[in-house]
Amino acid sequence: MMRMMIVFLFVFLAGCQNETTARKVDIYNGSGDMIGTAAFSEGKDGVNIKVKVTGLKPGPHGIHIHEIPSCKGPDFKSAGNHLNPEGKKHGLMNQDGAHLGDLPNIQADGSGKADADLTVSGATMKEGKKSLLNKAGSSIVITEDPDDGMTEPSGDSGQRIACGELNVEKNKKGKSPSDPTDIKEKKQGE
Ligand code: ZN
Repeated sequence: MMRMMIVFLFVFLAGCQNETTARKVDIYNGSGDMIGTAAFSEGKDGVNIKVKVTGLKPGPHGIHIHEIPSCKGPDFKSAGNHLNPEGKKHGLMNQDGAHLGDLPNIQADGSGKADADLTVSGATMKEGKKSLLNKAGSSIVITEDPDDGMTEPSGDSGQRIACGELNVEKNKKGKSPSDPTDIKEKKQGE
């Protein structure tokens, strides 16, 4: 019991370190237009994400954290697979799952707007195996279709239609550019 309390105290103290664990990420569609944001923050049970996007097809869409902080449209394959540091299977309904990056679907209303509060259970913005900022970082990707919660490798969720980079390097340098034309010019120069 004492040991347990010491562990709790240690975790508590570690949590008090003055690290920046809140990040806001811009989300772009396949044409390079900024369609919204995802605000990441360290929560009690994982990483909380406040997603606000527009311009989606009305209805449910899959949304996942991917392993590479790279959003090259229009297919966003550059983002890699779902973030999966523990080698699990895909799907929140899969008994051998889920990937760390698996999230419940978001719902776009009749005007194509989605506003959702999500939690990446067990993940952290701090250091660790289950950090969203391991290596170079990660990305958040929205898909055309909803995730069915079990089909490998990505829940039969269709094309990737929007993406935002949670980039360790960019965040070190400061804010990412908020003007979409800024991004386009940079991409052309690559
Ligand atoms: Zn998955």
